[in-house]
Amino acid sequence: MTVVLYPGSFDPIHNGHVEIVETAARLFDRVVVASVRNPQKGQPLFSLEDRQELIGEALAHLDNVEVTMFSSLVVDLARDVEADFIVKGLRAVSDFESELQMAQMNRRISGVDTLFIPTTSSYSFLASKLIREIARFGGNIDSMVPSCVAERLKERYPL
Ligand code: ADP
Repeated sequence: MTVVLYPGSFDPIHNGHVEIVETAARLFDRVVVASVRNPQKGQPLFSLEDRQELIGEALAHLDNVEVTMFSSLVVDLARDVEADFIVKGLRAVSDFESELQMAQMNRRISGVDTLFIPTTSSYSFLASKLIREIARFGGNIDSMVPSCVAERLKERYPL
């Protein structure tokens, strides 16, 4: 049984993330999706609890996926959930440099390896930060996020 951990901020989860989880769920026996409070990303739009709820709803169609949250090191969570690998999505070359450094550091401090899943071109431009900005100014994000996220963003930013 191969278990993988997919960590991220997911503020909020979008279709690029969903696609990575769907691929991981096909390739591996169990996928643990974990949202983290990332101090480098500033004040989040959604609380960790809200993000976890939205991730759960967005991935409810996948029965080998579970959702959790954490505020520790990714490698400590990987050990706690007995993950064989960490999984990360890659959008473009720009993701690669920082993700490679993170993967090498995580391997050095814990021995856990990171596997990269490339996104399809139709989702490679998606980023939670852009979605938050578009939603804030009333732009249409319906085709970029799961419907539960679109609804929640509309509640947050009523026209
Ligand atoms: P974002 O950059 O959208 O705020 P996160 O920090 O939550 O995303 O990213 C969590 C993981 O999802 C990272 O591995 C990141 O590379 C990956 N990811 C983010 N956006 C996409 C996308 N559009 N396609 C594939 N993977 C993505």
